[in-house]
Amino acid sequence: HADTAMYAAKQNGRNGSYFFNEKLSAALLERLLIKNQLNNALPENQLVVYYQPKCCAHTQSILGLEALIRWQHPTDGLISPTRFIDQAEDSGLIIDIGLWVLAQACHQGYQWQQQGILKGNISVNISPLQLSQPTIVEDIALILQQSQFPAHMLELEITESLLITDIKAAKAVLFQLKQLKVRIALDDFGKGYSSLNYLTQFPLDTLKIDKAFIHSMLPIETSNIVLKNIIKLGNELQLDVIAEGVETHAQLVKLRHYQCKIVQGFLFGPALNALATQSLLKQSYIMNDKLELANPTG
Ligand code: C2E
Ligand code: MG
Ligand code: MG
Ligand code: MG
Repeated sequence: HADTAMYAAKQNGRNGSYFFNEKLSAALLERLLIKNQLNNALPENQLVVYYQPKCCAHTQSILGLEALIRWQHPTDGLISPTRFIDQAEDSGLIIDIGLWVLAQACHQGYQWQQQGILKGNISVNISPLQLSQPTIVEDIALILQQSQFPAHMLELEITESLLITDIKAAKAVLFQLKQLKVRIALDDFGKGYSSLNYLTQFPLDTLKIDKAFIHSMLPIETSNIVLKNIIKLGNELQLDVIAEGVETHAQLVKLRHYQCKIVQGFLFGPALNALATQSLLKQSYIMNDKLELANPTG
């Protein structure tokens, strides 16, 4: 397959297009391969849910977790969702995979809540295709019921691409989900065509600012005016504002200065498997307890 493309490129006689076609066919081949193998990932138990902490910008204690899928590939090792979520969306597999992630997160969340080590929410990314399924509200209600995880401890992370495609339908579903008492977060805010309208039109609880804003912060205050005012806007709308992709202490200091209350990023830790997350939660729980004992008023 790749050989034919290369042959065609050679016939073309230009070096540039030779390399272009070679690269293109390799990328295409990988996509096809992944799409094929992804069919077996769920039935063969190759998918895993990891959890990344969402932390208080001031005390750095864990306020909640984001569930992030990983694919334990039989030969390629642990694969990041950036390499397969698009294909899962294209093929429709994301519908089953997404429900599976939700169920995993809720069952796990229930256990951690029972153990007294999870205080905040667990957020789960929901793809546009998933949310457009006519049974999505029932499906989520059933998962909550079966897992016994309290609805207010589940947060659904949606992206604005979903809101754009069909505003009326999106609104209806989100309001139905709010009736279940689940929380709604707008993810990757500022990445696409973010309309400020979304912030008041939809029943949101949380605003997650895209990591691109955090990574492009500069020492000069005027370069950060947009970021600073998105945080301000979110705070005034009484949304939980989360900065994503916080990697350095300097970024944390600035974000605190801009009144950002919740932070997520490698500075506080990457996504970990359930077992490692459980130890982290236990540790953090003990630390918080000590903090409270040492400072009974705070
Ligand atoms: P997202 O929802 O924006 O998730 C945050 C991503 O940023 C995660 O990538 C996380 O590992 C990464 N991240 C966290 N801290 C840092 C940091 O300090 N620096 C940088 N550069 N990155 C950081 P991940 O796990 O590879 O997931 C990528 C995307 O795949 C997610 O972006 C989300 O859109 C999608 N995804 C992940 N799990 C699911 C899922 O279960 N369902 C659906 N539909 N999408 C998912
Ligand atoms: Mg997310
Ligand atoms: Mg997301
Ligand atoms: Mg995001």
